[in-house]
Amino acid sequence: MLPEVEKLVVIQDRDLKTAAIQKELKQLPLEEDDAREKLASDTRALAAAKLAAQENEVAMKNLELDIQTRQDSIAKLKVQQFETRKNEEFRAMGDEIEKYQKSIIDLEDRELVLMEKGEQLKKQLSAAEAGLASSQELVDEDLAAIQSRRENLNRELKELEAQRAEKAATVAPEVIDVYNRLFKSKGGLVVVPLEDGQCKGCHMKVIKSTVVSVKMEKELTHCENCGRILYWWTEE
Ligand SMILES: [Zn+2]
Repeated sequence: MLPEVEKLVVIQDRDLKTAAIQKELKQLPLEEDDAREKLASDTRALAAAKLAAQENEVAMKNLELDIQTRQDSIAKLKVQQFETRKNEEFRAMGDEIEKYQKSIIDLEDRELVLMEKGEQLKKQLSAAEAGLASSQELVDEDLAAIQSRRENLNRELKELEAQRAEKAATVAPEVIDVYNRLFKSKGGLVVVPLEDGQCKGCHMKVIKSTVVSVKMEKELTHCENCGRILYWWTEE
């Protein structure tokens, strides 16, 4: 193989690896988003559990206030009852007191139900907190793994860059220019074998003089169809 071509093949190898790594690096933020997305449903569940517990607390407070109001009314009525001398009034107040007392019993029953519900909600809340915490742990592990992959890839990238630069320094700048332009326009393999008279880049048969030139290995030869740099290739 022509020494220049041999070097270009190495440079191309490094460039292809570099492109693959850059592509992988670009994917990492998406993987990070996916990992974080796993927390979303747990976070929503926790918020819902918190809200339910809060609403239950508020409902209980309201019941307590209602009970208190009725107790105050009963206390007032009892004072009035003590002060009145009319039997009818006394009885009417007694009826009212009884009504309030019944109402208080009813409210206390409801409060009991809410208290039991509150215990349930508290359990649900701690389950939701534990769920989020364990998901967070897994997600943190995932994110750490992605980060360490990123660091490894960046390290590889630097090594490839150094190897490429070292090799490129030994090739004539105009040859590198040609190669660079081709690599950019083709976005992939640009130094390809000529096999059975066919360019392995565009899969077209090349003309006789091109075959001869490639076989001679005296100068850089391009495929006249696609412009790629050709090198001689046989099975044996
Ligand atoms: Zn070609």
